[in-house]
Amino acid sequence: MVDHLLPIGSERVSTGTWLDVRSPFDDTLLGRVPSCTAEHVDQAVAIARSVHAAGPLPAWQRAEILDRAAAALAARAEEFALLIAGEAAKPIKTARVEAQRAVSTFQFAAATARTLTGDMVPMDASAAGVGKLAFTLRVPIGVVGAISPFNFPLNLVAHKLAPAIAAGCPVVLKPASQTPLSAIRLVEVLLDECGLPPGHVNVVTGSGGVVGNAIVEHPDIAMITFTGSPEVGWGIRAAAARKKVGLELGNNAPVIIEPTGDWRTAAAKIAVAGFSHAGQSCISTQRIFVHRSIADDFTAALVEHVRALRVGDPADDTTDVSALISKSERDRVHAWIDEATAQGASVAIGGSLDDLGVLRPTVLTDVTPEMKVCALEVFGPLVAVAAYDDFDDALRLANESRYGLQAAVFTERIGDALTAARTLDFGGVLVNEVPTFRTDQQPYGGLRDSGNTREGPAYAVREMTEERLVIING
Ligand code: NAP
Repeated sequence: MVDHLLPIGSERVSTGTWLDVRSPFDDTLLGRVPSCTAEHVDQAVAIARSVHAAGPLPAWQRAEILDRAAAALAARAEEFALLIAGEAAKPIKTARVEAQRAVSTFQFAAATARTLTGDMVPMDASAAGVGKLAFTLRVPIGVVGAISPFNFPLNLVAHKLAPAIAAGCPVVLKPASQTPLSAIRLVEVLLDECGLPPGHVNVVTGSGGVVGNAIVEHPDIAMITFTGSPEVGWGIRAAAARKKVGLELGNNAPVIIEPTGDWRTAAAKIAVAGFSHAGQSCISTQRIFVHRSIADDFTAALVEHVRALRVGDPADDTTDVSALISKSERDRVHAWIDEATAQGASVAIGGSLDDLGVLRPTVLTDVTPEMKVCALEVFGPLVAVAAYDDFDDALRLANESRYGLQAAVFTERIGDALTAARTLDFGGVLVNEVPTFRTDQQPYGGLRDSGNTREGPAYAVREMTEERLVIING
């Protein structure tokens, strides 16, 4: 068990009071992190502000730091996978994927740092502009306050830090209290091994209500980049009216399976996409709309795949599904299952706790849109299957959601695929792939309660820079 100090400026800071970081699987004490106050946030912001005032590093240097970060993460992938598996109870094989994805995130940010430019403005397109030359420069927006969730403790931190470094913005980062260890280690590696100068990324740990709120309210922070729940995210948006606020929030991802679609492949993919990290992904497949003519065959195939999932210790190479982030979250999901069954849903598999107290992967059928397991974000190891008769109805049902991150359709008919792409009102529509699919360079983000921005380094860098117009007369 280690006490972790916080990189703030050139110091490694301890605040004198500590917060335990425990395994959600077996409660082992993994480490302790400092409990910060608003004064520590002030201190970190003052340092970040002075870094901003000194001006950004040249783009080549930012790109080299990001390249070195990608190489360092690749070299330390197993170390990070173990940290993620420990603090998030993410099965080690899934944690390894996250660690590799973080390598890509830094690589794409390095490419963006090298190619970031403004635009030429066609001044002589208006009579008043004749004789003038104009272009825009992309300049760093200022100090970025980054607040991250527990479910991707490394790669979602990377999706905030890597574009900020590419854009030339200093950062004050607050990782989730349940999973701060990967974030602190990442920043140590950036500072100690990759040439990131002190003060460019500063870490503060502590509760959302105290430390997160101090970041949100701080007058010297120009932009908040937040990933987490809609309730907290939209509260931040309301509290920070004068800041730019990028929100990456929740979802209850739908997939439609047409009779022409490859439903066997869909069943196999959903058994991963609905249960990876016990469903604690913002694009976890949750609502499954399957054509009535194939519903029984599809459900039987899905149940067989789900039966094969191994539930257990996240450190075990064979584990597919482990504990939820907390007992209270487990109990919430369990209660939603019980409520759905009381309202008429059937449990095709799962629905109960195993001997270790882990919620078993669950498939519900006969669900209706009003049930919590459909209407809200479950964020647990559960998929809900509903049969439909008509494709238009399925599209309508998929759209009936307060969320709008990613949706998917399985079909062999190009016309239906294009109809789905035009009709599904989501940030991303996938054809013959699950809605849970993501690469780290794609524009990623949602509508409605799913957020208001796009991540992926090339897109996040645009959010973190201002376009400054330059006009030259003569
Ligand atoms: P959360 O409870 O909203 O917490 C997210 C972060 O916000 C944590 O660092 C938390 O700190 C902090 N926070 C809490 N209250 C705050 C406040 N009043 N002011 C400022 N910060 C505050 O979310 P979570 O449970 O960690 O993550 C799950 C959610 O994230 C799900 O809804 C999921 O869909 C969403 N998510 C979205 C994406 C995406 O890209 N769209 C990706 C992953 C997850 P503490 O940890 O100290 O409470």
